[in-house]
Amino acid sequence: MAKKAAVIRGDGIGPEVVDAMLSVLQECNLQSEIVMCEAGSEQWEKNSKRDETYIPDATMDELEHADACFKGPTTTLPIPNAPRSVAVTLRQKFNLYANIRPCSTFERLTPGRNLECVCFREATEGLYSGVEAQITPDSAIAIRKITRPGCARIVDASFAWARQHNMKRLVAITKRNILKMTDGIFWEEVLRASEQNPDIKVSEIYIDNMSQQLVIAPEQFNGAVLLSTNLFMDIISELVSGLVGSIGLIHSANMGDSYAMFEAAHGSAPDIAGQKKADPAATILAGAWMAEYLGEADIGGAVRAATKQVINEGKSVTADIGGTADTDKMAGAIASAALALLRK
Ligand code: ATP
Repeated sequence: MAKKAAVIRGDGIGPEVVDAMLSVLQECNLQSEIVMCEAGSEQWEKNSKRDETYIPDATMDELEHADACFKGPTTTLPIPNAPRSVAVTLRQKFNLYANIRPCSTFERLTPGRNLECVCFREATEGLYSGVEAQITPDSAIAIRKITRPGCARIVDASFAWARQHNMKRLVAITKRNILKMTDGIFWEEVLRASEQNPDIKVSEIYIDNMSQQLVIAPEQFNGAVLLSTNLFMDIISELVSGLVGSIGLIHSANMGDSYAMFEAAHGSAPDIAGQKKADPAATILAGAWMAEYLGEADIGGAVRAATKQVINEGKSVTADIGGTADTDKMAGAIASAALALLRK
């Protein structure tokens, strides 16, 4: 039976890049059913800001009845009492504990630098637990909640990825000399998994040194799985993404044990919304991964290879990576290249 994906187009450039991604998958004859639904701040504002969430009940219902979902970029408004971000809400609702961001350079964009690694971020605990307390009018605390089961599942997922992708190195990023208890539990779980995977070389690096190393010699992490807790990897994965060439190229998946959400790493980019200037690559790469997850691996593989080809050729690409094409033209070039690969 065909699987089903619920797709949120999102805010700002969201509709442009999500429509571009869907057109590529449809050109490739995706068999899975796609259901469109609304979420984000634009619909919240249209709805007179009455809801306590950016995700209407009807959308939550569609998401629950799908095998996976795609989230276009959604704006989180920086105003008091505005709802919690769509991504954080969905990660916690569906227990999507592994945020996985593969980062690969493209020859044309960073000649001489070859970096291929994957960032594994724990996505439900740490400083994103949402537990803060005002102690006095002039002081407040945020809780960095770390649990052993929470660490165990992200650590196991990262080792499983290393095994599946034949990656022989795993780098755990901590600040264990200062955060002795919380990062202590995390590191104990890394050591436990390491004993079960003796062929994968494990090292630990403190977050401050990691930041420096990524700036001065990023190639040393080529072929490695990078693993950390929620906020540390939020920051490190942005740093790694910056080495690739454009935020418009970076995508991620949020995985749980029985559900997944796919997304581009960039935001809703209101400064270029409605102008067809947005680079659709990140959204298309996330869509390719979703196709694989839904059981259509041939389409996923072809779309991924086609995206790489179009970016490296540089003839039909958007301005952020040195071209003059608009969003639809770049997506069209990717669709044609993917179809050619599928027909081979
Ligand atoms: P958020 O808080 O939602 O992540 P942000 O404002 O921090 O949003 P983005 O919306 O990602 O960040 O935008 C950062 C910059 O990157 C903007 O100048 C935007 O135009 C640019 N940008 C983001 N996505 C793309 C894209 N797909 N193609 C081209 N430029 C992009």
